[in-house]
Amino acid sequence: MNKKQKKMLVRIIVAAVLLIALSFVPVTGVLRFILYMIPYLIIGYDILMKAGKGIRNHQIFDENFLMAIATVGAIVLALYDQSGDYTEAIAVMLFYQVGELFQSYAVGKSRRNISELMDIRPDYANIENGGNLEQVDPDEVEIGTTIVVQPGEKVPIDGIVVEGTSSLNTSALTGESLPRDVSAGDEIISGCINMTGLLKIQTTKEFGESTVSKILDLVENASSRKSKSEDFIAKFARIYTPAVCIAALALALLPPLARILFMGLAPQWDTWIYRALTFLVISCPCALVISIPLSFFAGIGGASKAGVLVKGSNYLETLSQTKIVVFDKTGTLTQGVFEVNGIHHNTLENEKILEYAALAESASSHPISKSLQRAYGKEIDRSRVQDIQEISGNGVIAKVDGVEVAAGNTKLMDKLHIPYIDCHHVGTIIHMAIEGEYVGHILISDIIKPHAKGALEALKASGVRTTIMLTGDARKVADQVAKEVGVDEVHSELLPADKVEQVERIMEKKSAQEKLAFVGDGINDAPVLRRADIGIAMGAMGSDAAIEAADVVLMDDDPMKIAKAIRISRKCLGIVYQNIIFAIGVKLICLILGAFGIANMWLAIFADVGVMIIAVLNAIRALFVQKL
Ligand code: ADP
Ligand code: MG
Repeated sequence: MNKKQKKMLVRIIVAAVLLIALSFVPVTGVLRFILYMIPYLIIGYDILMKAGKGIRNHQIFDENFLMAIATVGAIVLALYDQSGDYTEAIAVMLFYQVGELFQSYAVGKSRRNISELMDIRPDYANIENGGNLEQVDPDEVEIGTTIVVQPGEKVPIDGIVVEGTSSLNTSALTGESLPRDVSAGDEIISGCINMTGLLKIQTTKEFGESTVSKILDLVENASSRKSKSEDFIAKFARIYTPAVCIAALALALLPPLARILFMGLAPQWDTWIYRALTFLVISCPCALVISIPLSFFAGIGGASKAGVLVKGSNYLETLSQTKIVVFDKTGTLTQGVFEVNGIHHNTLENEKILEYAALAESASSHPISKSLQRAYGKEIDRSRVQDIQEISGNGVIAKVDGVEVAAGNTKLMDKLHIPYIDCHHVGTIIHMAIEGEYVGHILISDIIKPHAKGALEALKASGVRTTIMLTGDARKVADQVAKEVGVDEVHSELLPADKVEQVERIMEKKSAQEKLAFVGDGINDAPVLRRADIGIAMGAMGSDAAIEAADVVLMDDDPMKIAKAIRISRKCLGIVYQNIIFAIGVKLICLILGAFGIANMWLAIFADVGVMIIAVLNAIRALFVQKL
């Protein structure tokens, strides 16, 4: 419990004790009124003040207003009747505050639990110091420091293994139970658990920039982006509360007037005013106001446990309505790790062509560049390369050892007016020109991700209508990959801007309820990620830019997770709707009972607190997503 909650608890106890004590004090009249006002003000002063503030700001109709008018009304009624029965008004305020306290406690606690359940925040990092291991705060570790991670410990900071071999449990990050083997030279991300061997890791990031911190930031800030369901509640309250107030007013006025005018009976003002006040207490929408954001929060927490980061509840909602999924090819459906299959029509020796290619590509983060550098295999001396220009969807141009090297696809060659020779093999082709002379091409090929086909089937099974692949790669490769993984449509040889255009064209044809998701690695496709209704990025391989631009990040780049994310979002939205219907349903029943005088204020406040507790418990279910 925090300070505020403790203070509230004290107020509740003091007011309750006073209320009970007063029931044994036989006073009447003004003194009785004054004595009873003490517990009433102790427990309700903040509500009265908030209601007053609301009236001054012309935002009258909220739950504070409802509680204030209901309890003040009940007190006035007791004065008018001279019954001296103020207990009910005070009790209503008291239980309302108990409910509020429970809610703030439950929300605070479940937020903390969600972070704890994710269980990825490291508490310390080990640094070797003269043969001894010293535990330090991960925040204080500088980039380039060598840290030691013992078996059983969490990797606190992103880095590269410099010594040791081990297998890592990445399940907290990716939801994947299969361990990952690592040895010297491998990059590892924080949040994994080291299982078998001792690892020495050279850190490549500060703690604040490391994967764990980023994930926790994302999850903790996710709920600040409001979804439509949450907006709905705000709008609903704007109409609902005034409607309830008018209904209450009608209930207080119309039946007594009808009794006088048409039935010739006594008006029974106090009965009807009491019913109207009860009606107001019942109509307080607390359960809705609290359980909906909590459901989203739990859904986001559950998704992150499965290795899917969702950046806001609005995205969870959009995800649940996804009907079209558009994929980028390289790095998304394929691994983005190219093998060199051959070097053809060369007027230079193979070794030399590869060297020029690798050097020209030395500054690019495109999977093709990385693969060429890997195939070259030797240390790259960057001082040999100048004037690097990367042309998205085309290739690169650079000066290597003073000569101009162009490496890219046919579009690049066309642009530079260099005649090239086509390749009859299926694969991605890197045409090479030196000083404007064609020198041959490098044939490279990518591997389709093992889960790609299954992922597309799973999407169809989860109700996705159309799957589309967009790529900048050559037609032949694109068609082959499309056929192998089984997408419905494929469009190839697209520049990044063409991809945006394609996505816009598809979005025009669909209805507004059907949402389009774009899945990419963020290299060349950040604009599309932004343009789609929802952008899903590959987090492990994807660039930081992709993770920034995306709305949903898949931690382990497994396309299978897209369908899983959709199922998680559906479950969460299902819970949100259950809570809305349940809360409104119970309210309606109570309102009707109240209008007929069957429900009194006591029942009303118990129903309210009860509904809230059930709705909160239901919301927490959104956290459990393993079996989806
Ligand atoms: P994808 O749509 O498959 O992700 P991109 O849009 O990133 O592909 O690139 C499309 C094509 O542009 C590649 O297949 C390649 O022919 C060419 N290309 C892009 N970047 C480079 C590069 N750095 N080096 C060589 N070729 C490149
Ligand atoms: Mg790409």
